[in-house]
Amino acid sequence: MEKPESQVDKREIKLAKMPPGMEGQGFFATTLDSVIGLARSNSMWPLPFATSCCGIEFMATMGANYDLARFGSERMSFSPRQADLLMVMGTIAKKMAPILRQVYEQMAEPKWVIAVGACATSGGIFDSYSVLQGIDRIIPVDVYVPGCAPRPEQILDGVMRIQDLVKNESLRRRNQPEYKQLLASYGIE
Ligand code: SF4
Repeated sequence: MEKPESQVDKREIKLAKMPPGMEGQGFFATTLDSVIGLARSNSMWPLPFATSCCGIEFMATMGANYDLARFGSERMSFSPRQADLLMVMGTIAKKMAPILRQVYEQMAEPKWVIAVGACATSGGIFDSYSVLQGIDRIIPVDVYVPGCAPRPEQILDGVMRIQDLVKNESLRRRNQPEYKQLLASYGIE
């Protein structure tokens, strides 16, 4: 059985020596990438682009039971220039595709995209001439949330997957040739 703290003989405790150059109280080493990633990931500003039933699930995600505010994302932005997370929820008709793309292009870098539900991901059950068969035909997508409709827990999971990406993304990623190539493949400069 472990001894209570008061009975531990101080002579039993062996302190490891600090590596040279690491002495001093309150010393904490990290990287700029990690600090900025942590701050960004816990203060995402989502732009909800909700067109149909999946949007209703999103409303439940914002409600008191599921409470997206726990993830620092309660500040919805209906202005693309003040948003960094585009959440596309619902069926996107081909006529609406240019508007969605314009919203994406108006968002400043760095920005991330979630396709919520089968319709946004692949057109869902609407395999028809009028429906876009997935938003990744017109803009790059970071996370796909499956389901028709997905439950609020799944939407929360999608947001957490985005947080993982944001936390671990290098500050240089947006200037790298691979990223520019990705945008170029969508015809975005
Ligand atoms: S995936 Fe299902 S629930 Fe979501 S918008 Fe499409 S039809 Fe509606």
